[in-house]
Amino acid sequence: MNQTKNNDVFKVARERMVATQLKPRGITDPRVLEAMRSVPRHLFVDEALWDQAYGDHPLPIGHGQTISQPYIVALMTQELGLKGDEKVLEVGTGSGYQAAILSRLARSVFSVERVPALLARARKVLDSLGYTNVHLKLDDGTWGWKEHAPYDAIMVTAGAPAVPEPLVEQLADPGVMVIPVGDQFSQSLVKVIKKDGKVTEEYKEGVRFVKLIGDHGWKE
Ligand code: SAH
Repeated sequence: MNQTKNNDVFKVARERMVATQLKPRGITDPRVLEAMRSVPRHLFVDEALWDQAYGDHPLPIGHGQTISQPYIVALMTQELGLKGDEKVLEVGTGSGYQAAILSRLARSVFSVERVPALLARARKVLDSLGYTNVHLKLDDGTWGWKEHAPYDAIMVTAGAPAVPEPLVEQLADPGVMVIPVGDQFSQSLVKVIKKDGKVTEEYKEGVRFVKLIGDHGWKE
């Protein structure tokens, strides 16, 4: 297949993904839908998986890690309520796909990953797409990224035993964080809201993420 035809095929696949997986399940924020339509998800996985890239399921990215199913990416993004001028922290860069979506919706994205090979690959893809407002760092993201705090929004894309305290501290007021919290097999999506000096938590749906490993997460 030549490149142009290939791009058209994937564009159609993204339209279908939005129409069949996202809209019917309550993803209504037009900016989120537009980001999901525009970011080429297939480029964030191995070429052997390109034909599955827009399916209704997570995708392996190596090192025992996965990119979430498109619906979960869109849901977590929508919960942040981004308007365009925010500074966002992501913990768990993985493939860089979620960071790419966030970069279309906020002013800048800071994303932390603990596996060097994943970070290197994410950087390459994000650079090739010209998403220059994404900044990456190799570190234990359970400590946040203090230098650039506070963040208007924080998204954790690995499952935590509890909400890491440094992330609550680095959340702006007002600010919102989404994070899967639970045991190693299943978690609830928790929305942490900081407003007028108070921190409240709302429980959303059940999700399943790989482990958040670090000082304020699970041990190896
Ligand atoms: N958001 C990613 C998917 C993340 S999978 C994407 O769009 O592709 C979860 C990621 O969290 C994995 O890459 C894993 O290595 C990373 N991770 C786990 N614990 C971490 C920690 N303490 N700090 C930073 N990254 C972590």
